[in-house]
Amino acid sequence: MLDAVVVGAGPNGLTAAVELARRGFSVAVFEARDTVGGGARTEELTLPGFLHDPCSAAHPLGINSPAFRALPLERYGLEWLHAELPMAHPFTDGTAAVLSRSVAETAASFGPRDAGAYRRLVEPFLPKWDALVRDFMALPLTALPRDPVTLARFGLVGLPPATWLMRRFRDERAKTLFAGLVAHVMAPLSGFATGAIGLVFALAAHARGWPVARGGSQSISDALTAYLKDLGGTVHTDYEVKRLDDLPPARAYIFDTSPTALARIAGFGDYYAGYRYGPGVFKIDYALDGPVPWTAKEARNAGTVQIGADSAEIGTALRAASREGRAPEKPFMITVQPSVVDPTRAPAGKHVFWAYGHVPSGWTGDLTDAMERQLERFAPGFRDRVLARATAGPPELAARNANYIGGDIASGAVTGLQIMLRPKLSLFPYGTPHPAVFICSSATPPGPGVHGMSGHNAAKAVWRRLRQT
Ligand SMILES: Cc1cc2nc3c(=O)[nH]c(=O)nc-3n(C[C@H](O)[C@H](O)[C@H](O)COP(=O)(O)OP(=O)(O)OC[C@H]3O[C@@H](n4cnc5c(N)ncnc54)[C@H](O)[C@@H]3O)c2cc1C
Repeated sequence: MLDAVVVGAGPNGLTAAVELARRGFSVAVFEARDTVGGGARTEELTLPGFLHDPCSAAHPLGINSPAFRALPLERYGLEWLHAELPMAHPFTDGTAAVLSRSVAETAASFGPRDAGAYRRLVEPFLPKWDALVRDFMALPLTALPRDPVTLARFGLVGLPPATWLMRRFRDERAKTLFAGLVAHVMAPLSGFATGAIGLVFALAAHARGWPVARGGSQSISDALTAYLKDLGGTVHTDYEVKRLDDLPPARAYIFDTSPTALARIAGFGDYYAGYRYGPGVFKIDYALDGPVPWTAKEARNAGTVQIGADSAEIGTALRAASREGRAPEKPFMITVQPSVVDPTRAPAGKHVFWAYGHVPSGWTGDLTDAMERQLERFAPGFRDRVLARATAGPPELAARNANYIGGDIASGAVTGLQIMLRPKLSLFPYGTPHPAVFICSSATPPGPGVHGMSGHNAAKAVWRRLRQT
């Protein structure tokens, strides 16, 4: 009998498996796809020699993750690569606001009227960042935080809607960049705790940057898998789990799946019926003949580039996709240009470019033209550089990964109380009605992103239980 079986080899499933294996437990992972990685994978999607990340590409949460930082992933090939700027947000006048490693450079890019407000917002948290990140990413709801004062201060600033926090700024530059940060998790700007989302991304940039992984996001998954195998764990791919009986006998079962799939597989009926899924995304991976011809020079040197002319346009795009059930005419877009720092991703002189915009759940249309019209506003001549493109809307994303229901890449809406209390209102979100069955996907706290913290937190609960029994 195995100690633990993990279903799903995404970053959370693999982290849970590693955490258990390094504590001496026997672990086997079962993955539906023919390769490991889930949302952290790399594929030659367009032309030979162009290595694309179909899912995650930028890793502010990965490099800041207490779980990843405690594992020897560099020894297994993971190398973070940093562009000159973590992020740039270009405007139609050819200038850009930036998120730099330096608070001063970031503040200066917002203009004189908002530079002080930005410094006052982020500077108190930066010296306490490591304790803060541990507290909000790993805190069991039943334990005391390591730094309760800082966490409480963070809560005061972050729990109100992002629109409140944005009122600290007088000009559009800071407001727009901040609105874009919140939009990374598809939360409407007026939603509860959305201020915290923007603040976390900003603090993460100042603390450790927003890197890409050399060779692509697959190298994160491959490093976790190689370490797991060294620890004696096994990984079985091409193995879709449909019922608990499909799995070998084990003392604990940990699901890196959606709550809906877990309920179906484990026969939990409507236990997770209240869990809500959010809007979808439309993803495009480009093979380019050269770098993106951004008008703003800052954008040419940034790993991530946000696209949205101002905070109102971003708010309109978010509302269209999440509340009005229609695709935005001017989509807010997140784009990443990994080959600016990683020459292994494309043939010499060529580039890969990664972009997505938000669309309603399950949307079956084609956002390519709307996205490229947006890109042409900030990078005229972009279309002339396109050698090939691979597109994926909600149906394709959901077909590739069962966790992305309706194309929701967060595996559950990041709105309302579900931002923090997911997949159910519970002091122990990783537990299920069955004492030997656990859930560790991004449908559990701290939510979406490649950081492995849901897997880490769930594994902690599992090893405590295994030691008791
Ligand atoms: C287009 C896109 C862009 C993104 N951009 C970023 C980004 O830049 N930065 C970032 O940090 N995050 C990003 N994300 C989000 C990130 O990829 C996810 O939050 C993260 O991968 C969640 O990890 P997970 O382990 O919970 O689940 P997943 O990575 O989704 O892994 C779940 C795994 O379980 C497997 N599985 C599901 N059901 C079964 C079953 N029944 N039997 C066997 N196996 C099963 C799936 O095949 C999959 O491999 C992006 C996601 C997408 C899709």
